[in-house]
Amino acid sequence: MIEKVYMATPAIPKTKISGGSFLLEERRTDEVFTPEDFNEQHQLIGQTADEFALNEIVPNIEKMEHKDFSVTRSLLKKAGELGLTYVDIPEAYGGLEMDKVTSAIIGDRIAKYAGFATTWGGHTGIGMLPIVYFGTEEQKKKYLPRLASGEIVGAYALSEASSGSDALNCRARAELSSDGKHYILNGEKMWITNAGFADLFTVFAKIGEKFTAFLVEKTFPGFSIGGEEHKMGIRGSSTCPIILNDCKVPAENLLGEIGKGHVIAFNILNIGRFKLGAMCVGGARVSLENAIGYAKQRKAFNKVIADFGLVREKIANMAVGIYTGESMVYRTVGMMDAALSEVDKSSADAMKEIRKAIEEYAVECSIIKVWGSEMVGYVVDETVQIYGGYGFVEEYPAERAYRDARINRIFEGTNEINRLIITGFLLKRAMSGQLALMPAIKKLMDEVLSGPSTGEEIEGPLAEERKLVGQAKKLGLFAAGAATQKYMQAIQDQQEIMGAIADMTIETYAMESSVLRTQKLVERNGKAASSLPIAMTRVYLTQAMDTIESAAKKVIAAVAEGDMLRTQLAILRRLAKYEPFNTIELRQQIAEKMIERGKFTLA
Ligand SMILES: Cc1cc2nc3c(=O)[nH]c(=O)nc-3n(C[C@H](O)[C@H](O)[C@H](O)COP(=O)(O)OP(=O)(O)OC[C@H]3O[C@@H](n4cnc5c(N)ncnc54)[C@H](O)[C@@H]3O)c2cc1C
Repeated sequence: MIEKVYMATPAIPKTKISGGSFLLEERRTDEVFTPEDFNEQHQLIGQTADEFALNEIVPNIEKMEHKDFSVTRSLLKKAGELGLTYVDIPEAYGGLEMDKVTSAIIGDRIAKYAGFATTWGGHTGIGMLPIVYFGTEEQKKKYLPRLASGEIVGAYALSEASSGSDALNCRARAELSSDGKHYILNGEKMWITNAGFADLFTVFAKIGEKFTAFLVEKTFPGFSIGGEEHKMGIRGSSTCPIILNDCKVPAENLLGEIGKGHVIAFNILNIGRFKLGAMCVGGARVSLENAIGYAKQRKAFNKVIADFGLVREKIANMAVGIYTGESMVYRTVGMMDAALSEVDKSSADAMKEIRKAIEEYAVECSIIKVWGSEMVGYVVDETVQIYGGYGFVEEYPAERAYRDARINRIFEGTNEINRLIITGFLLKRAMSGQLALMPAIKKLMDEVLSGPSTGEEIEGPLAEERKLVGQAKKLGLFAAGAATQKYMQAIQDQQEIMGAIADMTIETYAMESSVLRTQKLVERNGKAASSLPIAMTRVYLTQAMDTIESAAKKVIAAVAEGDMLRTQLAILRRLAKYEPFNTIELRQQIAEKMIERGKFTLA
């Protein structure tokens, strides 16, 4: 069993940073958390999770792929014996109550097999956390210790056949029995992870029109499980509908407050999203390792294919994706931990404050989910390509990874919904004055309309790269400013524009996270020792600037015409101007190191 050690020097930065503020503010390196800041405890847990994945999960993949869920359950118990399932549970209920960095590290390492990682996320994330954050004292005492040990398995039942994204529009109904002792639930839930073997479900249903959550045990009368879905991927996980037919749920199993189910649903998905982001990074790391291993032994034209520039380019891109993904995930959980460390755990409002601290980073969590799922999608796709014909057949790992990764863009809120959340949340904060977006847009508009400036001089390590991040922020603000000026509040109905603003926001966060991590590495180890991170950051910045410029152009072309369009495009070109890096050479350097080392590692 892992032990919680109270580290003398906590690794997490102390600065409390507002969610979404990255668009407006510059961060110092000591304010961001990176994988190089893992303390001894984080490393030990990472190693435990790694060994668990390699020694226990990987040898059982075939059994789980064939739906032997007795193996899955026993693995959850073994993970419990190691303490891996205890990290998110408060100490008062037998848990380890560790930081979110630890949760992310475990998710990242468990993701060596996506089928089990999905089970893991269903159990330790969306399955357990509704009780941790919204349960009553009795509910926590009753369920949390058994969930932590893996004695019982959790699941989360929000979606229905006719309402997935639109989950608040559910049809499931709950009615209090005439004696007031039970809620009677009727309806059907769809695509519920772990349903085939779970014991406890957080089920959402409406009392009248009030969307509410309930804790439903599988043994409650009127509860039944439908057949397993035949899925494209993550076949090692269970996905079934659940049927509620006058299901009798004790009144004390109502979770949270009547009519406040949406607060539970959204907060829990927030956490689910950062965990999913971490898992996407972990999954991509495994694919890259497979791709490199294959490329080093497969010969064509009397050469190993790892020697071909176009194969090396793919390997480099995958590594860049993983580096950037790690930077974003651990930066975000570091911010969450900094905010959580300020909560007085002994206060009566502690849980409310914890939920607030997590909700603060809704934008960043959605960013990680969208970006991570698309990054791993790219990595598994290129892995198939590197395997060539063998990539298309089941005997090789590329095929399964390709199928498994696809779901990440669909669950935990589709990427379209998350893009709308990103822009919507930022605009909401801007309108309420919580985020000084509007003054920043105005300042930028005044600045650009007053003509070309020589630009601010940035000094110190990675000055050029930091300047590019500044330009990316300006491009995003400029496009968002032009769009909000035209549509005002009605911008919410312009989904393509909302999506383009989300893309710019996502890329800006990715760029800045990569730059800050690399800058921190340069400060610590010097420039020469950081050549690999510098190369990865430069490659990423180049591709992200293209995406941002193109998204900004799309927005401007939609909101302006004639002379105004021409003026705005000229401004846009000015903001997007920079001297490109030699990415062919940089990718060669990155690929060289990855191929030599056989996997993603900085050293
Ligand atoms: C393997 C698997 C496991 C799952 N596990 C769980 C689970 O454990 N618990 C649970 O509750 N659910 C689970 N789900 C359900 C999942 O969360 C939903 O499938 C997902 O939220 C999408 O909902 P939907 O399928 O109804 O698609 P829809 O909502 O019908 O969406 C279809 C398409 O329309 C787009 N769209 C929808 N609304 C909008 C909009 N307003 N603007 C723009 N585009 C829009 C979507 O992005 C998508 O591309 C799981 C699903 C799968 C496949």
